[in-house]
Amino acid sequence: MKQFFKNNSIIVLFLVSALAVLFLAVYVNSLMRDAMTMLAYNTEERLLAVARSATDLVSVEELEEFQVPEDMEQPLYSEIKARLSAFSAESNVMYTYYMRDLGTGQYQFIVDNDYDPAWMVGLESDPVDAEPAPLSAMGGVAAVSDVGDYSDNWDGILAAYAPVYDANGEVAAIVGVDISDEQIVQTQKNVKTLSYVLLGAMATVMASGFLGFFLYKRKARLSQAANLAKGQFLSRMSHEIRTPLNAIIGLCRMAQNSDDPAKKQEHLQNISISSTHLLHLVNDILDLSKIEEGKLELDVVPSVTQEELDKIAVIMAPQVAAKNQNFTMRVAPGVPEYVYCDNHHLRQIIVNLLSNAVKFTPENGQITLDLCLLDERGDDIECEFKIRDSGIGIAPEQIEKLFDPFEQGDGSTTRKYGGSGLGLAIAKQLVELMNGHIHVQSTPGKGSVFTFTVWIKRAKDAQKELERETEKTEMPDLSGKRILLVEDSQINQMIAEDMFVSLGAEIDTAQNGSEGTQQYLRNPSAYDLILMDIQMPVMDGYEATKVIRTSDAPNAQTIPIIAMTANVFKEDIDKAKACGMDGHLGKPFDTNAVAATLHALFADKRKPVSD
Ligand code: ADP
Repeated sequence: MKQFFKNNSIIVLFLVSALAVLFLAVYVNSLMRDAMTMLAYNTEERLLAVARSATDLVSVEELEEFQVPEDMEQPLYSEIKARLSAFSAESNVMYTYYMRDLGTGQYQFIVDNDYDPAWMVGLESDPVDAEPAPLSAMGGVAAVSDVGDYSDNWDGILAAYAPVYDANGEVAAIVGVDISDEQIVQTQKNVKTLSYVLLGAMATVMASGFLGFFLYKRKARLSQAANLAKGQFLSRMSHEIRTPLNAIIGLCRMAQNSDDPAKKQEHLQNISISSTHLLHLVNDILDLSKIEEGKLELDVVPSVTQEELDKIAVIMAPQVAAKNQNFTMRVAPGVPEYVYCDNHHLRQIIVNLLSNAVKFTPENGQITLDLCLLDERGDDIECEFKIRDSGIGIAPEQIEKLFDPFEQGDGSTTRKYGGSGLGLAIAKQLVELMNGHIHVQSTPGKGSVFTFTVWIKRAKDAQKELERETEKTEMPDLSGKRILLVEDSQINQMIAEDMFVSLGAEIDTAQNGSEGTQQYLRNPSAYDLILMDIQMPVMDGYEATKVIRTSDAPNAQTIPIIAMTANVFKEDIDKAKACGMDGHLGKPFDTNAVAATLHALFADKRKPVSD
C-alpha cells in the first residue's frame, strides 16, 4: 500500500486535489443557491415595494391621534399594532413602523408592530437622529439603507422608508420596514471567502497538474535513459560472457583434437583462465545486485596489512608486466601492522581501481598505490588509498556518471578497452559499506587519481586470531568418513567426488532427492555427511532434507546435511537452513569455504589446502 502511494504520488496528489475541488464546487454551489434565493427575496426593490404598500396601513388622521406616550393606552393604538404585526408577518419583514419628523433634525417613532417588545416602543422611545434613508423619505423620496450601514447602530438592519402624504399632498409621516441584513452580510462574506478558496483549489490543481506533467516527463526521460543504459549493458554483458565462453568451447575442441600432450596442457590452462574470468564476471553481477538489495554483509577478519598489500602486488604483477608499466606501492608511517577488515572486499576495490589504471595507461606508464592513516577514534581508524596513473585520463563531463552502474566512459572506450562498466559502481558501493567515500580527479591525456577512504579497526591480538583463521583454511583428513552425494549433474558429481575422495572420504552417489533419501534410509548410520544439491528432478534438495529430518532414522536429526548449489543468494542460504540443512557450499567450489565448512564438522585431523 505504502509502495503504491510512493510510486503513484503524482496521480494520488492530482486525484486528491481534484476531489477536493469537486467537493468545494458542490459546497459552493449549494451556498450560492441559498444566497441567490435569499437575495431574490430580499432585494432593495422588494423592500421598497413593501414600504410603499405599508403607507396606507394607518391613515394620517389615525396617526394624529397619537402624540404623547399616554396615547398608547388607546384601544386604537393596540388595534393598529395588531394591524402592523399582521402586515409584517404577511410581508416577511421584521418591523413595520411609522415615524414623524420633529423638525429638529430628529424623528419620533409613532407606532410599530410587536416583533420585539424590547426594541421599538413607539411614543415612549427617545427621538433619534435622522439618517440618510429616512431623511430621503421625509423629503418625499422612498429610499433603502445600504447593506451593513445600520449594523453598528441597529444590530444589522436593512431598512426601506416611504413617505406618507396628507390630504394636501404634504409628507405627514414616513413608514419604515426592516429586515435583518446579517444573512446578507454573512452571505457576502461567505461568497468572498469561498471565491478565494476556489481560487486556491484551482491553483493547487493546476500546480499539481503541472508538477505531475513535469515529473511524468522526467520519469519518462529517466526510464528511457535507464532502459538505454540497461540495453547497452545487456548487449555488453552478452558480449563479455560470450567472449570467454567461446574461448572455452573453442579451446575444449582444440584440446580434444590435439595429440600433443604439451598443447593439451596449454589449452587446459587457457580454459582455466577463461573460466576464472567468466566466474569473476558473474560474481561481479551478483555482488552488485546483492549490494543494491542491501544483502551484502561485510566479513571482517584479522589481517596483516603488508601481507594483504603483497597479495595485491602478486595479482597485479602479470598485468603490469604485460604493459611494462612501473607500479609502486607506498605505505605511510602510522598505518597499523595488523587490522580487522573485510580483506576480500577491500582487495576487490583496490584491484578494480588498479586494473583500470593499468588498462587505461599506455605501455611504460606510471601507476602508484599510496596508503595513509587519516583519522583514528579509539580502535577505529580511517585509511585513505590513492591510486594514481599516468594514463589517458577522463573527460570532465564523464566523471559525474562514472560511478553509476552500467556506465562507461564512452562507446569508443568500451570497444577499445572492453570491461562491463560495473567495476567502479561496485567499488563505490563497497566503499560506502565501509563508511568511506570515493572520488576521482583526472586530466585528459595526463592521468587520473582515484582516492577512497574506509573505516577499519586496529587489531590487538591479531597474531592469535590469524592463526585460528589459517586453521580454518586447511582441509581436514576425511579418511574413514562416508559421504552421501545427492547430485543430478554427472559433471558436478565428478568434481565433488574428485575433491572429497582426494581427502580420503568414501563417496556414495544418488541422482536425485528421492533416490538420496531411500539410500540414506536403507542404512542411516553408514553416513557421516550428506552433500545435497538443491535443484534436482523428481525431488529437490529442500524436500529430501525434510524427508530425512522427519524420518525415524536414529541420526535423522544429527546427520550433517550441507547444501551444494549454484544458488548463492542470501535467501537461498536462509531457505536451506530453514529446511534443516547445516550449511551451504556455493558452486563452483571455493576451496576456502569447503575447508571452513569441513573444519566446522570434522575439526580433528587436518591436511594443508591444495588449490
Ligand atoms: P569497466 O569494466 O568498463 O572498466 P568501470 O566501472 O571500472 O568499468 O569503469 C567505468 C569507466 O570509467 C571505464 O569504462 C573508463 O571509461 C573509465 N575509467 C575508469 N578508470 C579509469 C582510469 N584509471 N583512467 C581512465 N578512465 C577510467
